Amino acid sequence: MLDARLALRKTENERSIIKITDSIGCGAKDLFIVARPCAVEDLAQMQQVAEALPLGTIQALRGCIYKPRTSPYSFQGLADEGLVILSQIKKISSLPIVTEVMSSQQVATVIDYVDVLQIGSRNMQNFELLKTVGQIDKPVLLKRGLSATIEEFIMAVEYVLSHGNPNVILCERGIRSYDTYTRNVLDLGAVVALRQLTHLPVIVDPSHAAGKRELIPDLARAAIACGADGLIIECHPQPELSVSDARQALSLPDMQTLIDSLADIAKAVGRQLVAKPMATQQDQFSMLSQATLVG
Ligand code: PEP
Ligand code: MN
Repeated sequence: MLDARLALRKTENERSIIKITDSIGCGAKDLFIVARPCAVEDLAQMQQVAEALPLGTIQALRGCIYKPRTSPYSFQGLADEGLVILSQIKKISSLPIVTEVMSSQQVATVIDYVDVLQIGSRNMQNFELLKTVGQIDKPVLLKRGLSATIEEFIMAVEYVLSHGNPNVILCERGIRSYDTYTRNVLDLGAVVALRQLTHLPVIVDPSHAAGKRELIPDLARAAIACGADGLIIECHPQPELSVSDARQALSLPDMQTLIDSLADIAKAVGRQLVAKPMATQQDQFSMLSQATLVG
């Protein structure tokens, strides 16, 4: 059997809740929903996402400033300029921020500005990076490798845990297969298996799995129905203008419709969508608008 002494659950009911902030956790009854443009492009773009979506139900924003691109000639992310935007959007939206890191150096650069560090598929077995994020105490969102087996995925998680960081969220984002119609094959079987084998939360990224926006809402609903602890979904104020992954970006109204459609499914599987009281939401919107004026 797999020597994943920290990741595997010891009893049938053992489940860990990963604390993101004092009021937000991943792995509890509330679904952990992360909205995200593929890459941070400018402050207005991030602000439009934050303003259009139900703050509260959306529990984190993701913005990437370092982009792992297949081609070295493609947009590589705004780096330092993007970090300034991330800190501004964190301040004005009060939402936790998730961002991807690809090296130990990038971990050091972003650590004080963000709440969750994502390690993307291409780095799932970058063992030195796994050891580095094992030595911090912020939550790590680890995505399954492009062709990683479930066991390899669990052992990558084990690297982080065994270096001292217990705060790991797993993310299924589709695996490579022969079919080119979908970008990847969303492996919902892995979601079920990972939740049975480990005590850690498992969320689903239907965007990189499907690669086509019209497939995403149904896959997202299926993910919640099979027990996923949350979703991370790409959306953009003007999807067709997205600098990366435009074909899979949802418009903000479509994102809202998708989120609304999750409530009944969540209930059927003993989960819930966080519904923030309107008054609080209004406060947050006016905070956002004021910040727009000032900034
Ligand atoms: C991403 O989340 O933006 C990304 C590049 O995804 P993945 O690592 O799953 O390909
Ligand atoms: Mn993307």
